[in-house]
Amino acid sequence: MLQKTISDTIDFEGIGVHSGEVSKILLHPEKENTGVRFLIKGVYIPAHYAYVKGTEHATLLGKEGVSVSTVEHLLAVLYMLGVDNITVEFLRGYEVPILDGSGYHFYKAVKEKVLELSSPARVLEIQEAFEYRNCRAYIKIEPYEGFCAYYRGYVRGMLEDGQVQYCGNPKEVVFARTFCYEEDVERLLSMGLAKGGSLKNAVVIGNGFVHNPEGMRSKDEPLRHKLLDLIGDLSLLGCRIRGKVYSYLGGHRLNYEFVRSLAERTFSTSLASSSVSTP
Ligand code: ZN
Repeated sequence: MLQKTISDTIDFEGIGVHSGEVSKILLHPEKENTGVRFLIKGVYIPAHYAYVKGTEHATLLGKEGVSVSTVEHLLAVLYMLGVDNITVEFLRGYEVPILDGSGYHFYKAVKEKVLELSSPARVLEIQEAFEYRNCRAYIKIEPYEGFCAYYRGYVRGMLEDGQVQYCGNPKEVVFARTFCYEEDVERLLSMGLAKGGSLKNAVVIGNGFVHNPEGMRSKDEPLRHKLLDLIGDLSLLGCRIRGKVYSYLGGHRLNYEFVRSLAERTFSTSLASSSVSTP
């Protein structure tokens, strides 16, 4: 497996779902071993769990007093396409544009420009099972020859129990939009969140129905979106993963705690741990 970047700069512009402000970002090609990173106000922030500063309804990364937010959908798409080296520059705003609430537009644009480099990719090979739990919710990982991620949960009033999976086909998850429950809208707004949220970029779930006139894109769309979030947050390990990940009711907070615990276990002595290989 070789490292990848993009062949050419790609731009995105749109509203931030939480800030409500228009953001403009540029994705720049980078050479081998640069990693995925953000550039804002002259500061480079690596897409790495060590820079996570917030997990409240989105993943926020910060360094030296500046931050970037809602990074997970873009990061998920980059991870699924194997893009290891890229700089995401903010020309305006600090929140990655929400676009239609899914990873679809990022996927469509980046997929066309993926460029293979000549160095082998960094891969974390899972040697033994590990589980991180918070009450009923948990995430576990176990050895596997490739990368597979599963999400199991429910959609209140609509789907009692469902499970979705990603085992290499981004099309199964990129279309799934951000969602929230009708009763949470007021609370989100009072917290200063979701100021840019609308039926154009989020599915709003009522009691047994959705407010969006077009309905859901699949009956388990919210679960597929949770899987998209999980993949984006897992990418904060800073390398590709060879293992099978299973999340039961996980969200950004648990995703982050899982990644941090897994990394602390794996990279406890040095980053040159034997379980990170560059085949
Ligand atoms: Zn999300």
